Amino acid sequence: MINNDEFRRWSHRTADWAADYRAALNDAPVRASLTPGATANALPAAAPELAEPMENIFADFERIIVPGITHWQHPRFFAYFPSNAPAPSVVAEQLVNAMAAQCMLWQTSPSATELETRMLEWLRDALGLGPHFSGVIQEAASSSTFAAILTMREKALQWAGNSQGLSGQKKLRVYASQEVHTSVDKAIWMAGIGGDNFIRIPIKGVLRGMDAAALEAAIVADKAAGFLPAGIVACIGGTSVGGTDSLRDICSVARRHNVFVHVDAAWAGSAMICPEFRHLWQGIDEADSMVFNPHKWLGAQADCSVLFVREPQHLVKTLAIQPEYLKTQGADGIINYSEWSIVLGRRFRALKIWFLLRAYGLEGLRQVIRNHINWSVELAEKLRATKDFSITTEPVLSLFSFRHEPSCVADLDGHNLALVKAINDDGRIYITQSKLDGKAIIRFQAGSFEMQHSDVDVAYQAITEIAKGLTA
Ligand SMILES: *Cc1c(COP(=O)(O)O)cnc(C)c1O
Repeated sequence: MINNDEFRRWSHRTADWAADYRAALNDAPVRASLTPGATANALPAAAPELAEPMENIFADFERIIVPGITHWQHPRFFAYFPSNAPAPSVVAEQLVNAMAAQCMLWQTSPSATELETRMLEWLRDALGLGPHFSGVIQEAASSSTFAAILTMREKALQWAGNSQGLSGQKKLRVYASQEVHTSVDKAIWMAGIGGDNFIRIPIKGVLRGMDAAALEAAIVADKAAGFLPAGIVACIGGTSVGGTDSLRDICSVARRHNVFVHVDAAWAGSAMICPEFRHLWQGIDEADSMVFNPHKWLGAQADCSVLFVREPQHLVKTLAIQPEYLKTQGADGIINYSEWSIVLGRRFRALKIWFLLRAYGLEGLRQVIRNHINWSVELAEKLRATKDFSITTEPVLSLFSFRHEPSCVADLDGHNLALVKAINDDGRIYITQSKLDGKAIIRFQAGSFEMQHSDVDVAYQAITEIAKGLTA
């Protein structure tokens, strides 16, 4: 229990700790290397009965917790996708923490709602999207996609799913390539559509995406067999190797058959603030909904996912529920964003977008993203030119994959997985593996706001040196 004076002192101490932590990152190993159970064993089995001094709690935080943290803000975090949190975003979150407002309705914090609306207009325009899109902030791409899948379900069932359930209805069908994120599978399960009705359409290539003719044939065949095609999920910048669909082709199939199109651009969407990359999602204006995560590459720290929809009334018709205690009396024309969301309670997430966009300017953010892409392409070219390395998928924005294939090694899959492990144990950089056509590959993405050009050289050094060591 601490009083307001102590709250002030500990808040200062925390701010100092945060700045020191960030300053030391460049010299720290990126990934935490603990054995499973090490943290759990350092924690008492039961909660304390009596109050403990903050001094002890803070000391244990530094002693027990920090060594088990993987440093996502590290300049050489090249694994997964980034989860950036530059200073303006952190400062905004500290203010949000202090106020701790719950922003489910307009009246539970009018400025939070109205800032959210304006920030989504800023982001929509910054991405070059048409003015017919409206947006809402969700906690994750998984929930944005779930909201979109529920909307496509309800639209296909003419809004009968929520009231009648699915058992008496025609079986719904949803289409996507193999490249979409598992959050789509999960949304299909949770929406009651059933994994068996999630139909995978073959791709023509990582960057060419779903075969539109095969997609159309599947829809026609399903209709003939008595199914109800509800929607298509397209992906722009898939998680494994950046798989990207051709939205133009998909949307024209969708229009002919009156099905909903949801686009998952969770990672790649942020890059669309740079006009020169928008060819990747040509046709986006024809989609019904789109998710992108400012908490990945744009720098608005987690959690911050944006769902844009063409027809917000359809989203609201699917998700709004208004018991008496949630009615807002006497306020017409207002937005209650909980009616656009899966969850009722909402953190104030728009503030960090406002701080971020103002502190960097769109031009500042474009420069960050352009650097990542240029530096990643530079590394891909260096590896391509290095003996025994091959580029397995070409850079999609700042993501590419490679493989080390020395002739003296028989088990190349095992060798590449061992290489990933050895590189991550080394600590200079952090990367992850994936699979392509059944083969183990190594993914590299550049996306940390702290990254400098010289970090590409460190990455090249670490990868080539450790690969050589493994085969020596
Ligand atoms: C990261 C990612 C997701 C999942 O994002 P969450 O916000 O963690 O739910 C979904 N799709 C793609 C393409 C992603 O990169």
